[in-house]
Amino acid sequence: MRLLVVGAALGLAACASEPPVREAPVEARSAQAREGETSTPAPLEKPEWTLLVHGGAGALSSGSLSAEREAAAMAGLDAAMEAGAAVLREGGLALDAVEAAVRVLEDDESFNAGRGAVLTLAGKAELDAMIMDGRDRNAGAVAQLRFTKNPISAARLVMEQTPHVMFAGIHADALAAHSGLDMREEDYFVTEQRLDSLQRVLDQLEEAKNTGTVGAVAMDREGNLAAATSTGGMMAKMPGRVGDAPIVGAGGYADNASCAVSSTGHGEYYIRTSFARMVCARVAEGMSAEAATQATLKEIADLGGDGGAIVISHDGSVSLAFNSAGMYRGQIDARGVKETKVYPD
Ligand code: ASP
Repeated sequence: MRLLVVGAALGLAACASEPPVREAPVEARSAQAREGETSTPAPLEKPEWTLLVHGGAGALSSGSLSAEREAAAMAGLDAAMEAGAAVLREGGLALDAVEAAVRVLEDDESFNAGRGAVLTLAGKAELDAMIMDGRDRNAGAVAQLRFTKNPISAARLVMEQTPHVMFAGIHADALAAHSGLDMREEDYFVTEQRLDSLQRVLDQLEEAKNTGTVGAVAMDREGNLAAATSTGGMMAKMPGRVGDAPIVGAGGYADNASCAVSSTGHGEYYIRTSFARMVCARVAEGMSAEAATQATLKEIADLGGDGGAIVISHDGSVSLAFNSAGMYRGQIDARGVKETKVYPD
C-alpha cells in the first residue's frame, strides 16, 4: 500500500484499503458455465499469467512506417512486455504489471503517451490516462495533465489515495506533484516529429491521424485482471478535448468476473458506445474475448469510427483486434508465447 502522502498534503479523506479478491457473481458464474455452449471454448491450457500491450491503432498501412520507426516501436513494445512480465513471473499483481508496462511506453517517444504525445491545435501535450483493478472494480483516471511524466501513475494515485475516480487539469498535475511523482516542463513532452506532423495537419498537407496511444491488460497467477490506458489523444485536437482513454468503461475496464480491456482509436466513438464496458458485458453473457471484441468494434464501425482493443477474458482467452489499417500490439504469457505485430495477420 502506498503512503497516503497526497491525502495528508491536500487534506483529502483517504479511502485506500486493500481490495479483496472477488469471486465471480452468480450471473457471471452461470455465464461461465454456458461458455462452452455459446462461444469459442476456453483455451485448453490457461496460461498461469498473461500480459497484452498495445501501442495504438490507426492509419498504419503496410509500408507507411520507415523500417527504423517500426523497429523502434517494436523494441518499445518488447521493453514494455518485459517490464510487465517481470512483475507477473514473480507472482505480482496484474495491476502492478499493467502500470509497469504502460510507464515504459509513456517514456518512449515512439508512442502517443507521455513524451512524444500528439499535440493540441495550440502545440501542447494534454495527457489522459486510466487504470482499473478487476478485483474490486476500483479505478482512477486523469485528464489534461501537462506536467506529469507518467500519467498512468497519476491515475493510480487518484484510485488509491483519494476518495474520487477522476481528476482533470491543473489540480490533477498538482495532486501528482504533491505526492512526489516525477514532473517535467511542458517542452519535455513535445518532440520534433510531433511538431512536424502538427504543422502538416495545420497546413492541411495531411489528415490528423490517431496513432500511438498505449495500453496494457493482464491476468496474474491468482486470476486477477487489470487494465491501463494512456494517451495524448488525437493529433490537432481542440485544447480541452478529453477522449475515451480516461473514461472508465470507454477507454478501459477491468472486472475479474468478465474481462480486462484497453482501447485505442477514435475516442469519440469509444465514448458513445461505452466500448470497454460493452466488451465485458458481452463476455459476461458468455461470448469469447474475440467474439465480444469483434461485436463491439462493429458498433464503432457502424457509427463511422475505427480503432482496436486488447482484451483478456476471465477464462484466459484473449483478443488483439482492430478495424483500422494496423495496431501495434504484443502478447506474452507463462507458456512462453511472446510476439509483437503491427499489421493484420
Ligand atoms: N483513443 C484516443 C483518443 O481518442 C486516441 C487513440 O487511441 O489513438 O484520445
